[in-house]
Amino acid sequence: MKIVSVVGTRPQLIKAAALQPALRARHVEVFVDTGQHWDDALAGDFFAELGLARPDHALGAGGGSHAEQTAAMLIGLEPILVAERPDVVLVFGDTNSTLAGALGAAKLGIPVAHVEAGLRSFDRQMPEELNRVVADHLATWSFAPTWSAVDNLRAEGITRGVVLVGDLMQDLAAFMSAEVRDPAILAAIGARIGRTLEPGAYLFATVHRQENRAPAAMAAWAGILADAATADRPVILSLHPGTRVALDEAGISCGPDVALVQPQGYRTSLALQLHAAAVLTDSGGVQREAAWLGVPCLVLRGTTEWAEAVADSAGRMVVVGLDGARAASELARLAPSTAGAELARDRAASLDLRPAGAADAIVAALEQPPTGA
Ligand code: UDP
Repeated sequence: MKIVSVVGTRPQLIKAAALQPALRARHVEVFVDTGQHWDDALAGDFFAELGLARPDHALGAGGGSHAEQTAAMLIGLEPILVAERPDVVLVFGDTNSTLAGALGAAKLGIPVAHVEAGLRSFDRQMPEELNRVVADHLATWSFAPTWSAVDNLRAEGITRGVVLVGDLMQDLAAFMSAEVRDPAILAAIGARIGRTLEPGAYLFATVHRQENRAPAAMAAWAGILADAATADRPVILSLHPGTRVALDEAGISCGPDVALVQPQGYRTSLALQLHAAAVLTDSGGVQREAAWLGVPCLVLRGTTEWAEAVADSAGRMVVVGLDGARAASELARLAPSTAGAELARDRAASLDLRPAGAADAIVAALEQPPTGA
């Protein structure tokens, strides 16, 4: 088969890296990068780090409003899809690149396969939710990571071509986690970011969702991080460049014990999570990785699409939104400052993360006609 894969953002490069070896072992992949994320820290560096193929087509369609960006992607994609005539267009997740890939292909009558289908926050204020809903309703194959995703699709009348494949990001995390298990890795990371890092003696945070760029939301999460951070246990905050600009423009500070760092590489992100006392994040990917690594996690959003990650966490993952008092009490419960080092060392020593088998399941499913009612 000839498959066009459409990626554009950091999490899509990571998902593509998990799938590409299995896909290319059996099929021809044409790799299209929309350029939704274009800087090295969010995109460029991941090609080398994850061994991704260079894109066959790069659209350079980053920046602009949602409409401008999505329109530029559609305009860029159409002639490529017409010329390549793929058997299927593969889209990942819930970004504007997902929407453009799905819509562009469907309008040309090319079957769409959606990886991470069926996730719902049930919050249509989120641009990601709109992208997911449209992609799911255009897809011929819906590759669901969880049972609740399958249920969500069924509730919207989507049953044909739905395959529960597991979580593709778990495949890559399982493969890479062995490389970051030794806490000695923290010395090199600490040297790069200018902080001394000891297991369990820091918190790791990421913030990038659009809703968390509103001034009131930024003030709220900055307050949560400032309260959580101490000189002995700083917060390492990997900040999306857009969030950093918004924070600077609003003149909001996170205080002296929150270290703002550039977006880190994939292994560094896994390592910083694994050896932290706890993770605070609004990221879907980081949330699941924290769960797989067994790290306590506070979700800095009001909703989550990853209901299973919360339900299966034995209370280690809590959706706190931007409620400062709740965040403080949950952090005190999940990551008391006294026991951090021992807990982190035990966690890393006993880590045994297995792949979900999603990459192989996706390739196998694509080779069959879609089934189901
Ligand atoms: N990530 C990374 N560097 C960082 C922060 C996160 O490589 O500094 C990785 C993280 O480990 C996960 C992915 O980025 O694999 C999550 O992507 P993101 O948070 O941008 O998007 P989301 O998952 O919310 O769609």
